[in-house]
Amino acid sequence: MGCHGGSRPHFVVEFPEVVVFDGSDHESDAAEELARQLEAREIEAPFVVASIHGEKLAAKVKGPRPPQRHLASSDQEAAAELGSRAKKAGADAVIAVGGGRCLDIGKLAAARAGLTLVAVPTQLSHDGICSPVAVVPDDGGKPESVGAIAPILVFVSLPTLVTAPVQSMTAGLGDLLANPLALRDWALAAQRGLEDVDQRAWDLSVDSFQAIEPDLDTDPGVSANEPGFYHRLVDALVLSGMAMICSGTSRPASGGEHEISHALDELHGGRAMHGAQVAFGCVVSVGLYGEDTDAFRGRLRRLQLPQHPTDLGLDREGLLEVLLHAPQTRPGRFTILEEADLDEPAAGALIRKIWPD
Ligand SMILES: [Zn+2]
Repeated sequence: MGCHGGSRPHFVVEFPEVVVFDGSDHESDAAEELARQLEAREIEAPFVVASIHGEKLAAKVKGPRPPQRHLASSDQEAAAELGSRAKKAGADAVIAVGGGRCLDIGKLAAARAGLTLVAVPTQLSHDGICSPVAVVPDDGGKPESVGAIAPILVFVSLPTLVTAPVQSMTAGLGDLLANPLALRDWALAAQRGLEDVDQRAWDLSVDSFQAIEPDLDTDPGVSANEPGFYHRLVDALVLSGMAMICSGTSRPASGGEHEISHALDELHGGRAMHGAQVAFGCVVSVGLYGEDTDAFRGRLRRLQLPQHPTDLGLDREGLLEVLLHAPQTRPGRFTILEEADLDEPAAGALIRKIWPD
């Protein structure tokens, strides 16, 4: 399956293959399966970038030439350095095994080295699993989104996922809650003549949300014990990434609610996992679209996601700053926040309306 990149009509982007290992309860069996999957793809000199959580899964990766193993480091320079090492070592693929940061480092390293990438997420906390964008700190430690490459294979080990904290899984759901709102924002920008909507990307984002919709009113403690849930969650996150690959931007999965999460990062150093902050940002978008914020907050409460400023350790003043700063985090992106163009009195009134409590 493939799609034509929106901005480059003659450039075909291949979608990654998704393999979910649920054959046993043992991570070592999943590690064997990962090694088999790489062999089947004739990867001869794998260059492994693993986080501590990914070491067990990566332990059995092998090739005709001995695999190189590296612990994932943390910034763009280090990622570029890994990429150059992979190239010098004659590697033919980067295998990134770990959490979001590790996958982003792997993506960037692979892009710098011109190598294919295999993504092996150890938690399902956001839709960056297969997106073509990496968020990696710059020299000053400030997270920056940089273009990277999408994986050819996403391998998910169920025995690994069930040991991840429930909050990482609910954060994944939180990131997906953004999709319908991001699409409305995209339509709004298109209505204003600012952007074109890519229909295939739009449909993928819709598919992504629909894949997980039946689980959005289930107690996460219950979902966490159901293998089918993880299949749906990984499908949804991968589809969301594919939507971004298709459009060549994060548009189909990122609107005003993501600007709020970015503002939380920039002003308050991040108050929760990305997807949890995004879920909170969705409340604001839902309010600005004039829809039922009480019902939406109730859903977030059931999913154990932040639905009140105090859940993020923010008072009204702190939240007010976030709302006013949010549009600056993504200059050039028109969303419901830019449409509302909140000044201080309007932002204050919105906060009182959504959170009278
Ligand atoms: Zn996101």
